Amino acid sequence: MDIIEVFKEFIFHESLTLVVFTLILLFSALYFGISMLFKLTISCLIKRDLASKIVLSKKFPNQLKHEILHSLYSVLIFALYGLLIIVLIRNGILDVHFKLDYFIFIDLVILIIWNEIHFYLCHRIMHTQPLIRLHAVHHKSKVVTPFSTYSFHPIESVLNGTVLIIPMFFYSFGVFALFLFPIYHLTFNTIGHTNIKIKWGNVFNKSIKISSRHNSHHTKFHVSYGFATPYMDYLFTKKTRNQYDK
Ligand SMILES: [Zn+2]
Ligand SMILES: [Zn+2]
Repeated sequence: MDIIEVFKEFIFHESLTLVVFTLILLFSALYFGISMLFKLTISCLIKRDLASKIVLSKKFPNQLKHEILHSLYSVLIFALYGLLIIVLIRNGILDVHFKLDYFIFIDLVILIIWNEIHFYLCHRIMHTQPLIRLHAVHHKSKVVTPFSTYSFHPIESVLNGTVLIIPMFFYSFGVFALFLFPIYHLTFNTIGHTNIKIKWGNVFNKSIKISSRHNSHHTKFHVSYGFATPYMDYLFTKKTRNQYDK
């Protein structure tokens, strides 16, 4: 059976119980796999004096436990969104294609641009008065770690989890782009929570600016709301460009 048939079988014919368990397993493997990989890479870089920490303060007591527990709630919520998407596809409400060509790249670019807008809007909403108390769960990690990425109050995860389902009502994405997008999202989100500055290479240092920008957000609170790029911040908060992207 080729890869297209495997995906078709999973989306259209697999039992929904098995679908949700598979999605929970995939999201958990992605979260723990990428977090551990980044944690090990950070330790190696710091040990070899190739990188330094941005924020030197200590983590709060039981921070790792807090982050992993809330991330597991997020994993469950994101898996349930995956299940909902599959149910809507089976009922003909959402549509996907199975092309294995340049469409994967086009779909990913659309999703990456949309994600910048969606993340920024959700993040600004979470910083408004009624919701800021819930967003405090994520901001409890003032010293960020690769395990902080999914550490949200479940209601914030419900909001963040709409990133795929909303555009799917307007555009038919390829299933391969839809499966690759969470890998992109979590990888770049984890770079934002590494708390390190790389000591070599101008180009690499620029790309790792995601890390320093999101660190500024965790320490200074009212700056750098964006995801991987600063453009949404440039558009809506003029101060950010001058203060944090020199
Ligand atoms: Zn925030
Ligand atoms: Zn964060």
